Amino acid sequence: PATRPKQPPQQPVKKPPESKNSRNYEKPWRANAVDPKAEEKSKEQNKAGTFLESVYPDGTGPDLDLIQALERDVMEKNPNVSFDDIADLDDAKMLLQEAVLLPILMPEFFTGIRRPWKGILMFGPPGTGKTMLAKSIATLGQTTFFNVSASSLASKFRGESEKLVRLLFEMAKFYAPSTIFFDEIDSLGSKRGESNEHEASRRVKTELLVQMDGVGGADDDKRRIIVLAATNRPWDLDEALRRRLEKRVYIPLPSDKGRKRLFDIYLSSVNHKSDEIEWSHLISRTQGYSGADIANVCRDAAMLPMRKKLLQLRSQGFNPQNIAKIKSEVEVPVTMEDMREALSNVSKSVSNDDLEKYEFWMKEFGST
Ligand code: ADP
Repeated sequence: PATRPKQPPQQPVKKPPESKNSRNYEKPWRANAVDPKAEEKSKEQNKAGTFLESVYPDGTGPDLDLIQALERDVMEKNPNVSFDDIADLDDAKMLLQEAVLLPILMPEFFTGIRRPWKGILMFGPPGTGKTMLAKSIATLGQTTFFNVSASSLASKFRGESEKLVRLLFEMAKFYAPSTIFFDEIDSLGSKRGESNEHEASRRVKTELLVQMDGVGGADDDKRRIIVLAATNRPWDLDEALRRRLEKRVYIPLPSDKGRKRLFDIYLSSVNHKSDEIEWSHLISRTQGYSGADIANVCRDAAMLPMRKKLLQLRSQGFNPQNIAKIKSEVEVPVTMEDMREALSNVSKSVSNDDLEKYEFWMKEFGST
């Protein structure tokens, strides 16, 4: 994609002959390091390579698969989400900036009693922007982003999850400053069935606690790691993990203003009859909808003209002429009628009962 930085141009001349085991060769300052800053410099240089190259200069080793899986599926160099892409949530944005970005930008201030938070939990209904917030914080702080699905940690990597957690934090240190985001954190440290919890999952949880205790230390300034976590089921979190997630931020359903902004964001990418859209109706009709629900309404409305066209053409079958017709006729503006129809197709996904539970948990354990 266009957002990815271009590969730096290859060094043309004077390059030592390629060899998989040429680390000392590539880093000649190591041999005659008299400058006390040389070690620091070499660490910086190390970052030019990958974590894999740093642990396995020969290109192979016992945990190769796990490291490759992390680099491929979990690490995102640039998640590229900005605060402007996220509707509403001004309080959460403020709080995250203060709690996460400032300690990276002015580490000398955040020492002693002002030490940064060990971890930050975002809780609230699904589809309200928790993942987007984590990505935007990673983008703003120019940190490497690790997007970890805690449920797949617990299931997909069963047996190796503990090692994976350790490697994850090592990798995050290597690419620091880093943001590690654990989605569905409740599936790792769940209270449910604690008594008959598997030995293996207990070990993963213990490893996570140990690793979290290791981040944000006073001498860790240059290797800052931020731990963010999200859950739709905060009441299922076990106590030890909850204690590590010291700051707990409620990410609620969007307000009236937020829902207007969501419609603006999601309709801006399609042609629509803005003057005809009854915005106040849309806003009141979507009370209780999440951001994801509203995105779905807009997507549904934007697809309606094509679906209607397909229905008309169904009797004639699919052939190249018909497809050409669809292409030329479906680019019509989204109307208020489409929006009404989409609203009746997409209902809200969060129940009032759950909302009450979030409010209750917020009062008991939340931060403001
Ligand atoms: P969560 O992590 O809270 O379950 P996500 O951040 O993954 O939710 O959001 C899911 C989708 O819903 C996003 O990709 C986006 O399309 C939409 N969305 C949710 N909340 C917002 C928001 N506040 N602003 C913009 N889009 C949102």
